[in-house]
Amino acid sequence: MPQYTTNGKVQVWLTALCAFFLAAGIISDYFFSLQYQITVTLYILSYVTGGYSGFVEVIHHLRKFEVNIDFLMIFAAVGAAFIDKWIEGATLLFLFSLSGALETYALGKSRNAIHSLLKLRPSEGLLKLDDGSEKLVPIEELEIGQIVIVKPGEHIPIDGKIVKGETSINEATITGESMPISKEVGDSAFAATLNENGVIELEVTRKANDTTVAKIIQLVEDAQKSKARTQRFLDTFEPRYALSVVIAVILLIFIPWLVFNQDFDPVFYRAMTVLVVASPCALIISTPASIISAIANGAKNGVLFKGGAYVEQAVDIDTVAFDKTGTLTKGEPEVTDLMVFDQDQEKFIKDNAEVSGMLAIAAGCEFHSEHHLAKAIVSKAEELNIQPSQVENMQATPGQGVEAFLKGRKVSVGNSKMYSAFIHKWPSAVSEEAQHQKDNGKTVVFVVQDDQPIGLIALADIVRDDAKASISRLQSFGIKHIAMLTGDNEGVARAIAAELNIDHVYAELLPDEKVEIIKKLREEGVVAMVGDGVNDAPALASSDIGIAMGAAGTDVALETADIVLMGDDLTKLPYLLWLARKARKVVWQNITFSLSVIVLLLAGVFAVELPLTLGVIGHEGSTLLVVINGLRLLKRGKISF
Ligand code: ADP
Ligand code: MG
Repeated sequence: MPQYTTNGKVQVWLTALCAFFLAAGIISDYFFSLQYQITVTLYILSYVTGGYSGFVEVIHHLRKFEVNIDFLMIFAAVGAAFIDKWIEGATLLFLFSLSGALETYALGKSRNAIHSLLKLRPSEGLLKLDDGSEKLVPIEELEIGQIVIVKPGEHIPIDGKIVKGETSINEATITGESMPISKEVGDSAFAATLNENGVIELEVTRKANDTTVAKIIQLVEDAQKSKARTQRFLDTFEPRYALSVVIAVILLIFIPWLVFNQDFDPVFYRAMTVLVVASPCALIISTPASIISAIANGAKNGVLFKGGAYVEQAVDIDTVAFDKTGTLTKGEPEVTDLMVFDQDQEKFIKDNAEVSGMLAIAAGCEFHSEHHLAKAIVSKAEELNIQPSQVENMQATPGQGVEAFLKGRKVSVGNSKMYSAFIHKWPSAVSEEAQHQKDNGKTVVFVVQDDQPIGLIALADIVRDDAKASISRLQSFGIKHIAMLTGDNEGVARAIAAELNIDHVYAELLPDEKVEIIKKLREEGVVAMVGDGVNDAPALASSDIGIAMGAAGTDVALETADIVLMGDDLTKLPYLLWLARKARKVVWQNITFSLSVIVLLLAGVFAVELPLTLGVIGHEGSTLLVVINGLRLLKRGKISF
């Protein structure tokens, strides 16, 4: 049954009026034996009110030369009137209209599940003015760069960066994770999340209609409107099926009546009953009712499906490829070793002044890079109170490193790939030390000046707490291959793969080589690529399903991925698979159930002359049951680790 264009309240009123006129008709007919014209007028009014919404749909489809299920219903009701079965016809329209209203209500529940997020977002923010005074202003008036004060226990009104104070914030609305996260100056905070215990001052970073929560809602709405594969199939199937029913019904009237000389009225009545029970209302609603609920469930738990199609497709995933840095690891590497190489002595030396000089150059090169490693190097310099050198013309090469000029000399930081063109042989002390660090699971970058190595920096990143449990859960869900893709060195990759039970390791990859690996994996199965979405966009885009993680606040990830995990939480990955599987199960339950009901009711019509009213009840009842079954998917799943 369609979700009507007529608005929900109007439909409820029309349904009530339909029932009223039907009752009035019956009373005037049986109790007062009023004139036939009066009774029929009442029935006609009942028809008009009960059939209005459906009629609008019929016209809409007929314009496209299609017949739809509303057409079947209205055809059946008019047919019933034709053989003076007004009451049954009006009952049909009443129940049809009622179940339409109930469905609109039930589906609205799924659709609005996500809108409740907006209610958590205050409509006003406490703006701090230049003179230090405070003023409540509507969030729409907040401008980027202004300062907003948020008190403990309040929801945050707008996306911003903390410039004063510290607190813990519950971000469940955005990430689905209800453990509060402690935040301090420099951290970002999202609109609609809950400031638990400190007074903070936020510098506004996004306008009200641009906030992460606003984007989530937009995304979910679009996703719910988009169609799953099964639904697209059912949509093309509906007009053809409806037309076949019409033809079958015409034959069911004329063959027995004209060929076998049976009485017209019972033959016609039976044909109308067939028309009703053969209508695929339940079948048509079976998929959207389930998928819309699954999308809402995901959104509430920090998993954004960007379309119904991905809910269905996620079930088929058999290979999950992870980006290492920032996905399996925390993406917050720390510098563990700083080594200065003396070219004359051909060995590493321990001299604090030299170390400072080397780190100053490295930090200077990395100063404007967004890379995780760059941040680690710059903050190491900060920690040791070393001023980064003022370099010029910094240029980054993805998957390799960065280079710049310092007083006319070329300086750079990067891995061996970066230098393959002009350093053919590293001094043996350097390559041995680098290898030694790599074997210990460290990431190693060279610091080079005028094509000569001046130092090595070793860094280590730690594996996420939940990585191991999530991966073994994926394996228990029947994911056949778990792969890890990284631009980092083989040693680090092997160490992490061993710790996490990952069977396919691809290391030292450039971004386009990651794409090649994904293509190769896709020849074997359905591949989901999980990355942070920032520097993995090409790999995410070339996989069957791109899943971006930790995406709150980063627009690129929201845009390039098919499914987005809002928090930095790998356990959402098995949750996503669980939800997709559950959704598919419900879709198939619904499809099987609706088809069985059609077959059963049809059998009833021919075997025991099922009355039209019972046919209508069975038909509308099954439609509602299918919708209610779909609503079960709104419930949060408990999956254990
Ligand atoms: P991942 O696949 O682990 O996300 P990337 O492709 O971003 O890694 O980087 C791969 C490798 O390239 C790093 O391990 C490092 O050796 C080198 N690299 C990339 N960017 C930088 C940088 N800004 N500074 C130093 N090394 C870098
Ligand atoms: Mg990465």
